[in-house]
Amino acid sequence: MLACTYSSQGVFTLLNKPKPVLQDSRDAIVRVTLASICTSDLHIKHGGVPRAVPGITVGHEMVGVVEKTGSAVSSVRPGDRVAVNVETFCGECFFCRHGWVNNCTDPNGGWALGCRIDGGQAEYVRVPCADQGLTPIPDTVSDRQALFAGDILATGYWAAAISGIQADSTVLILGAGPTGICTLQCVLLKVPEKIILCEKDPQRLRFIQKHYPQVLTVQPEKVREFILSQTLHGGADVVLEVAGGTDTFQLAWQCARPNGTVTVVALYDSPQVLPLPDMYGKNLTFKTGGVDGCRCGNILSLIEQGQIDTTPLITHTFPLREIAKAYDLFEARRDGVIKIAIDMEA
Ligand SMILES: [Zn+2]
Ligand SMILES: [Zn+2]
Repeated sequence: MLACTYSSQGVFTLLNKPKPVLQDSRDAIVRVTLASICTSDLHIKHGGVPRAVPGITVGHEMVGVVEKTGSAVSSVRPGDRVAVNVETFCGECFFCRHGWVNNCTDPNGGWALGCRIDGGQAEYVRVPCADQGLTPIPDTVSDRQALFAGDILATGYWAAAISGIQADSTVLILGAGPTGICTLQCVLLKVPEKIILCEKDPQRLRFIQKHYPQVLTVQPEKVREFILSQTLHGGADVVLEVAGGTDTFQLAWQCARPNGTVTVVALYDSPQVLPLPDMYGKNLTFKTGGVDGCRCGNILSLIEQGQIDTTPLITHTFPLREIAKAYDLFEARRDGVIKIAIDMEA
């Protein structure tokens, strides 16, 4: 089968590899129907994820059809359409029992797929801990609607859930990339008083203005004064940092009001400075990533009810054999690209 493979730093190659087989009674083999390219794949490509092993098949955002299940798998059966979770987790360890599945202590726990073990930019993928990692897709939800349920939408859902958003909150979101938009959709479900989105790319700002007219938008150089003019207590109650830029962490805490919450969703390329003397007296609460992706069922229900729709994010679709072209476009951010779907059946 064809599989997009991390060959060496800076190089992904589409290789012919053997189809995966069950290795454990809790495994399932999924025939991938639709996958996507994530910014984290680019981090792997450029050597920014040391855990990623050269030779692995990349891809951790996908949906498909269960082909085979191990004897211990009970929640899905061959033939089921499923969303695949970015994280594999045992469901039994200390962290899993608290819902902190990102820190699952199983050898395959946390973000393993498409990083430490073969992922899903391929025709088939082996999913460990399949009872936790696979969620059946409701019949009325299409593959394209479900595509982001296990990764960027899971991230947005988690970020909105842990940030303590109240009915009277002003929420500032930094970054309108794919994960920023998913975060926005999940924040909208909390119905806070005001949502402000800060983004530098004019094309992305236009996308937000078109699809979410109820959201205020601002560019980074104006955000500090804008936030003061829009709030009564010197900043946003909640800031969600989804931009991951060189100075966006500083912007995040500067734009929060005293006693506010700053949730860091972004994955940075380099260390960030926490200038404690400068923020002394602000009494901020920081929450940091990554996602505990264990609410895929809730997310798919919200999609089924029409409360979340991420299909406008899919701006391009490519067949697997043209995935190199897709990466090229995604990395160069050409042609208004937000997310690319890789269609395995095309
Ligand atoms: Zn991802
Ligand atoms: Zn666990």
